[in-house]
Amino acid sequence: MQEDNYRHKGMRRNLVEEIKNKGISDENVLNAINNVPRHVFLDSSFLEFAYQDKAFPIGSGQTISQPFTVAFQSSLLEIKKSMKVLEIGTGSGYQACVLAEMGAKVFTIERQRKLYAKTKPFLAKFPYRIMTFLGDGYKGLPTYGPFDRILITAAAPEIPQTLIDQLKTDGMMVIPLSENESSQTMLRLTKQEDGSLKREEYGDFKFVPMLKNLGDD
Ligand code: SAH
Repeated sequence: MQEDNYRHKGMRRNLVEEIKNKGISDENVLNAINNVPRHVFLDSSFLEFAYQDKAFPIGSGQTISQPFTVAFQSSLLEIKKSMKVLEIGTGSGYQACVLAEMGAKVFTIERQRKLYAKTKPFLAKFPYRIMTFLGDGYKGLPTYGPFDRILITAAAPEIPQTLIDQLKTDGMMVIPLSENESSQTMLRLTKQEDGSLKREEYGDFKFVPMLKNLGDD
């Protein structure tokens, strides 16, 4: 793994300031962004991009989400220590590490074989509680659920009922839902006692699409 030196730490502190200025106030989230070295998730030649508040290509047509988006989704989840969190869309593994750094037990699914093959051994180098799975996120992980939280990090065309079924009562799902062609509405859904969903909307975001089945594309 690449080193994490004073220069990286300095750039990270600036990034945390930037995210704070954009409205993130949850200390647990800000600490996690400050502690997880985002540059190790990118090729070393892209260091200058690692601490800009931008999404970045990670190969296989996928991206590591913008730090603000990671922070925003993480704060909506209201993570408490040892919560079981299911993430759909492992990608680089950065968001999974941020959740784990916040104290969550993370279960993360990726559908692209190449990305999974790269990210799984990489994530194993961190001291975090993260289990990485190759699979179709629409199916979730019925044998590991139910989950306190479910986070979808790709643009979902619908609310997947299979995943709602794997959510505990009072559990929350954060999902960027494609309600038109060009962007997604960030939703937080809370599963009520009677199984119905409380729905809160948090503005427009842009994600790569959530696709069905495994892929090599
Ligand atoms: N959370 C990632 C960013 C992910 S980008 C990070 O921190 O880097 C979205 C990811 O979702 C991509 O890697 C994409 O391949 C994956 N994805 C898309 N549809 C999926 C599905 N049905 N199941 C699992 N992963 C999926």
